[in-house]
Amino acid sequence: MISTLLAQKSAYDVALENFEIAADALDLEDDVREMIKYPERVLTVTLPVRMDNGHIRRFEGFRVQHSTTRGPAKGGIRYHPNVTLDEVKALATWMTWKCAVVNIPFGGGKGGVTCNPKEMCMGELERLTRRYASAILPLIGPGQDIPAPDVYTNPQIMAWIMDTYSMTKGYPIPAVVTGKPLSLGGSVGRNEATGRGVFYTIESACDHLRVPLKGAKVVVQGFGNAGSVAAHLLDSHQSYVIAASDTRGCVYNKDGLDIPKLMLHKERTGTVVGFPASEQITPEELMALECQILIPAALENAVHAGNAGSVRARIVAEAANGPLTPEADVILAEKGAFVLPDILCNAGGVTVSYFEWVQDEQHLFWEAQDVYNRLERVMKTAFQEVLRIQLDRKVTMRTAANMLGIGRVAEATRLRGLYP
Ligand code: NAD
Repeated sequence: MISTLLAQKSAYDVALENFEIAADALDLEDDVREMIKYPERVLTVTLPVRMDNGHIRRFEGFRVQHSTTRGPAKGGIRYHPNVTLDEVKALATWMTWKCAVVNIPFGGGKGGVTCNPKEMCMGELERLTRRYASAILPLIGPGQDIPAPDVYTNPQIMAWIMDTYSMTKGYPIPAVVTGKPLSLGGSVGRNEATGRGVFYTIESACDHLRVPLKGAKVVVQGFGNAGSVAAHLLDSHQSYVIAASDTRGCVYNKDGLDIPKLMLHKERTGTVVGFPASEQITPEELMALECQILIPAALENAVHAGNAGSVRARIVAEAANGPLTPEADVILAEKGAFVLPDILCNAGGVTVSYFEWVQDEQHLFWEAQDVYNRLERVMKTAFQEVLRIQLDRKVTMRTAANMLGIGRVAEATRLRGLYP
């Protein structure tokens, strides 16, 4: 009963709760808290779309700009049946602190449409995307608010948004979105950026904790873009990815799954389930596997009061946004797990989005190695900055990351002052 009640805490409740913990640790003045805690702008849109059966169906969409204090709002667009305004507000809030943690000149935003893209054909998805893009058009722009992909959105969807925006303005404006296809001003390395950033952060944590990457056992919950790329890089550094999951099920091999083949299998069949040389386990069993590194890479609240006690990982790397509830945080801290918080761990995606935006604005494109080197530098610098706060102030890595991000936004807020 208690765990059911705790699981009902919304993502935005969690975001606000974590804000207060970090703000208290920073001894942040009340006036600044009032100015930076809540979203600056919230837009709800109704999206009528003609479906292939000839009928019109209504969808609901959102765009939230949490902060533009340090630069234009930045954040992905999620297409999912469970998208709510509450969730989008939480994700936008985390984007603000995340951009500040990696010290890129963006604020935070997020968008979402409540829909099930798995049940829609390409034409329906395109019409929905273009209608959504035109509905949020007054808010977005290269200097205002720059969307990107998130769960169940992809480079093609970004291309449609770029086209809709550009057609309305009358000239091509690639910098309005990131995560675009390469042929439309995308950046090399953007597609793998989140997983690569997760890998660099895990590498730093392993160095700090003296956990050898070679031979480390890894478990990935959510074998999608972020999870599979992180798994692939760890696999190529001789770690063993022993289990992986998606919405359809979990696969396990105690000697390590063949990750390049698992990626191909998922691409071909749409799921990890049925992968040869693996046995199927339950999501509960997956979470309880003994491992050095657990990567929750699916959605919010995956680890909660009900299952955190069974986790047996030394490092928990949050590739997903908000995968641990505050109760899970406490339980994992008591167990001595080292948690790499989302706003640090998965910031590689927005960092390479920033590189893409810079390249678009300069009309000058970089080599892959240049992108990787810059990303590694940003991620490892942020890790060291967060770690220093964690050690100095004896707080969790999450509170330390929030202190770094919130502290930077607070400083910018004080300098800008209050208008009027
Ligand atoms: P994705 O759609 O590519 O992958 C998500 C995967 O999680 C899918 O394979 C899906 O089947 C699986 N999944 C969903 N619910 C699950 C469940 N209950 N149990 C097990 N698996 C489940 O999405 P993504 O882009 O990889 O995003 C994953 C997470 O990473 C999200 O929280 C997202 O906000 C976060 N993130 C993504 C990026 C990015 O650039 N893609 C950047 C930062 C953060």
